[in-house]
Amino acid sequence: MPTRPCRVEIRTRTLEDNYRFLANLAAPHAELLAIVKADAYGHSLAHCAPAVVRAGAQWLGVTSVEEGIVARALCPAAQILVIAGVFPGQAAALLAHRLTPVAWEPWHLDQLEAAAHAAGLAPGSLPIHLEIDTGMSRQGASPTTLPVLLAHISPASPFRLEGIMTHLFAADEADGRVTAAQLDRLDETLGRISSAGLFGEWLNVGNSAALLAGQARAIADLAAHHGMKALLRPGFALYGLVPEFNPDFASAEPASLAAARTHLQPVLSWKTQVVGVRSVPAGAVVGYNGTFVASEPMRLALIAAGYGDGLTRSLGNRFSLLVHGARAPLVGRVSMDQAVLDVTGVPGVQPGDEVVILGTQGGQTITAFDHARAAGTIPWEIFTRIAPRVPRRPV
Ligand SMILES: *Cc1c(COP(=O)(O)O)cnc(C)c1O
Repeated sequence: MPTRPCRVEIRTRTLEDNYRFLANLAAPHAELLAIVKADAYGHSLAHCAPAVVRAGAQWLGVTSVEEGIVARALCPAAQILVIAGVFPGQAAALLAHRLTPVAWEPWHLDQLEAAAHAAGLAPGSLPIHLEIDTGMSRQGASPTTLPVLLAHISPASPFRLEGIMTHLFAADEADGRVTAAQLDRLDETLGRISSAGLFGEWLNVGNSAALLAGQARAIADLAAHHGMKALLRPGFALYGLVPEFNPDFASAEPASLAAARTHLQPVLSWKTQVVGVRSVPAGAVVGYNGTFVASEPMRLALIAAGYGDGLTRSLGNRFSLLVHGARAPLVGRVSMDQAVLDVTGVPGVQPGDEVVILGTQGGQTITAFDHARAAGTIPWEIFTRIAPRVPRRPV
């Protein structure tokens, strides 16, 4: 059956190209773990996880055990890291699907150990990544819990310390001061870990901004200093966007960032159609509460997308979409399932015409940054709130 005309198109080849570009940027200093959490930032895990694996990814990062199970079915050979926590009762499923946990609470290790014993795992056979809080105060071991965790990862335990992870929370600050302080703390912590007789194989640090700002080298140097290899975790850039830096680098932009601007291409387009066109006289009001009043006779186009699809409601009267390669303002309030465009200035608009919400049409482009600025948020949120009911199609 033909579907309601509101859909997302995913260019999987572009995703593959983006992955290869970023992997080259990281090489030879670091390898990449492709972040495909939150349903690949709303781009669809089912389309994106296999694509990055085709492009050479050996590591995937997902939100949860649930997502990991889906990713495992799609990518039987990948190493799949569950980055946002294993919850009570999930450890057996994690083992059954060969997922790798990020652990930072003693109870994480208790749960994992019990499940490992129940599954008859040999000592040292369950890879884990231990997360260290180096200043974000979100997740990760604090200096006080670290000794408890390290005592738990004894040779007799089922654990193998495959990775030591931290999250850089200000990698998009161009002066790099916060990042340098975090790496110093991490350096100290790695010293404490080796003093306890434990050694991780991978130092798992750094998002898209860290990679594009040229931090792979510093992370790799820190890793090498502790006999480890570096693993960076880009998400956003994989999907073809270049993070904004604050303040920006101005003329002294790192070469990696300049290269990213020319090479990365957006993976996602979001499209709907004109489903009706009407002419209204001056004085007609449009949408809930009549927040838009026609100042002259106007042509209005109804589109099949609303806030129930993730089109931000506050964009009504404040944003425009593409039809016939021209920007047509969203007039009146965005409804749950529909919205209205002013197409007075765009001749010949008819039902069935394509409307681009996010993407390119006739040489004009609307980016996730454009949506984010208008909606007062960040592009990551724009992507992840495109509703599940909007089908994602690979193209
Ligand atoms: C989301 C996330 C990333 C990826 O961040 P981007 O800015 O999208 O590259 C990396 N690491 C962790 C822990 C994350 O939660």
